Amino acid sequence: MITALKRIVEEFVQQQELERALTDVVSQVKEAMSTECCSLYLADHEQQHFLLMATDGLSSHAVGEVVIGFNQGLVGLVGQREEPVNVANAQAHPRFLKTPQVQEDNFNSFLGTPIIHQRKVLGVMSVQQTNTRVFGEDEVAFLVTLAAQLASAIANVGIQKITRKSANKPSNDLSKKQIEGVPGSAGIAIATAYVLEPEITFNSILPRREANSPKELIKFQQAIKNTRNQLGELAARMNTLLPSEVSAIFDVYNHLLSDASLGIQVNEHINAGWNAATSLKFVIENTIREFSEVDDDYIRERVTDIRDIGQRVLVNLMQKDIAKRVMPEQFVLVADEVTASMLAELPRENIKGICSRRGSSSSHASILASALGIPAVMGLNDLPINSIDGHSIVLDGYSGHIYINADESIKREYKRLQTEELELNDLVQALADKKAVTIDGTPVALHINTGLVTDFDIIHGLDIDGIGLYRTEIPFMIRQRFPTESEQVELYKSVLQSYPDKPVCMRTLDVGGDKPLPYFPLEEDNPFLGWRGIRMTLDHPEIQLVQMRAMLRANIETNNLNILLPMITSISEVEESIRLLNQAYAELTEELKIDIPWPKLGVMLEVPAAIYQIEKLASLIDYFSIGTNDLTQYLLAVDRNNARVANLYDYYHPGVLQALQFTINECNKHKIPVTICGEMAGEAIGIILLLAMGCTRFSMSAQNLLKAKWILRHISLQDAHELLAEISVMSCPKMIREVMIDKLEQIGLGGFIRAGK
Ligand code: PEP
Ligand code: MG
Repeated sequence: MITALKRIVEEFVQQQELERALTDVVSQVKEAMSTECCSLYLADHEQQHFLLMATDGLSSHAVGEVVIGFNQGLVGLVGQREEPVNVANAQAHPRFLKTPQVQEDNFNSFLGTPIIHQRKVLGVMSVQQTNTRVFGEDEVAFLVTLAAQLASAIANVGIQKITRKSANKPSNDLSKKQIEGVPGSAGIAIATAYVLEPEITFNSILPRREANSPKELIKFQQAIKNTRNQLGELAARMNTLLPSEVSAIFDVYNHLLSDASLGIQVNEHINAGWNAATSLKFVIENTIREFSEVDDDYIRERVTDIRDIGQRVLVNLMQKDIAKRVMPEQFVLVADEVTASMLAELPRENIKGICSRRGSSSSHASILASALGIPAVMGLNDLPINSIDGHSIVLDGYSGHIYINADESIKREYKRLQTEELELNDLVQALADKKAVTIDGTPVALHINTGLVTDFDIIHGLDIDGIGLYRTEIPFMIRQRFPTESEQVELYKSVLQSYPDKPVCMRTLDVGGDKPLPYFPLEEDNPFLGWRGIRMTLDHPEIQLVQMRAMLRANIETNNLNILLPMITSISEVEESIRLLNQAYAELTEELKIDIPWPKLGVMLEVPAAIYQIEKLASLIDYFSIGTNDLTQYLLAVDRNNARVANLYDYYHPGVLQALQFTINECNKHKIPVTICGEMAGEAIGIILLLAMGCTRFSMSAQNLLKAKWILRHISLQDAHELLAEISVMSCPKMIREVMIDKLEQIGLGGFIRAGK
């Protein structure tokens, strides 16, 4: 049964037209379960009913016509209960709804299961039979498993469109589409989509029609010719090594490329109106499927050859399209996964916004986008990457929505909000040289986070209290090898000298998680729980020592270095780091024959275990920095980079807030300075609550600093305490957020949490 299940799901996902996919699926299920009828209904939540979308067994005239209310019939019951309903005699069931149009008089037994995606019932799938019997456990399990797997594919198509009978449009139709993701970086962008390095695989090809078949046929022939030439060169090179095997393999390849084999089928699809890449995709995927099912080892082994040859032809087909592309002057960067290093390398001034299919609000790409002041939306699972290039995008980094080819009215509204944002920015600019102090006179120290940004243009001229977090990762990530000690010295010097009379907290290398080093690849199942930050550098003292030496050397003139250790979990990690720091210090004093300044040493509180060891840690170091990004992910067991659980990642979860209150109290009790350097500190709600908890030092991106100053200058400590008391009794993060948003709107600070002023 597992093979049937796999095949049904694969074919469903690959089918280019949804109506056809649904029709195929019901027939396949009917056959696989040896039953007499299978039907599929989709939910229309606005209309509160299910619409019959496909059936093999009921009257075909009922398809697209028959609707069943959410609280009607057995189908409605499945939806209401959100679990399978299995009845031997449906006609006798009190919820049976007689619907003459479907002609189901012969059927007695009924098994229905809901199709649920992210807690929402999208539809119901049912099987029916003449004889009166309860379906067996295996049958129920089969239908439930299948429905669960179909759910995300159905959700991706945009169910509302389908139930409103607009399903006859191809699924890659981009006319006026709105897609929901998660907010990555605040702000609004309106520009053309530019897809970076689209991945050329068959999975990434969305079926597309092309009326000009002769042109597509020529394109395909050219791709075949290029592939043959490349294979010829490859064969010549390998022939000297393995003559007989090579000629056998290349014979197979050449045969596959010939008109008599795959070529003819591709030509048929092209002549039927599909473009060359789509036609090739159909043929290769079908052939792989057919070959995989054949009970013959030789044939099954050919699957690898077909996949390989298909991939080669596809790359040749698409190469020209990719080479032709020029980077527009202004664009919204689109990628499957926008990474921090990608952003660090692209010209800042061209990027107006960022759309990433993967990642979440606390991914390092989001943090970097926010540091650069580029609005971003992450976790756009439904983003049609391969067909979006060149289309217009309106991006709302506050709500996490994007609009593709939006109506003029939407564009007009967002342009208005953009103008208001600029006005708000001008307003806060006026505070550049003012102090951060609350209405009732509490002074607050504001530092900046930097390092992910490759230049210091943004921060120059800002009146700040220091650099609270300099992330040293990026210089490591954008190179092809570890930077040398002298390269690091130069870099760190420029950072320390940018604020020579202010403290600069330089964090030792925190790679791993979502910041891999290209030249030090790691394959881990759970990278955020893996070999990250201090764990990696302590295992490689040669890396840690060089970095510490470089920091110490860079600090000789300015003496403003504060070293910060990331991902500390155990006391021994700090002791070992101190040992390495002593060693680096001793080596340098001996080599340079001068007294060099001893730096301050701090620890990031971002692993929950560390917050219970503050007393002991405080006796070893000089200061703490709370990393709310990681502390939240580890307290809630929610991957900060995973869009699927992005709605569970929340600093305002009562558990996180209590842990923060405890941490701040502990630091204050042991009289050791504490700064908050996670993104929460740069959020309007976050800074108010953290201030009320007793923290008066914050570090944030330069883009957020003036906004934070404005907020602090418009709120009293008394107000902050009252708000914290009000939300402290609440158990729902969403409610906490709503109360805070209301309050901010009331005191005129709404512009800091949503689009507009
Ligand atoms: C944090 O975890 O809050 C933090 C500031 O570090 P990073 O985001 O670089 O992990
Ligand atoms: Mg961290």
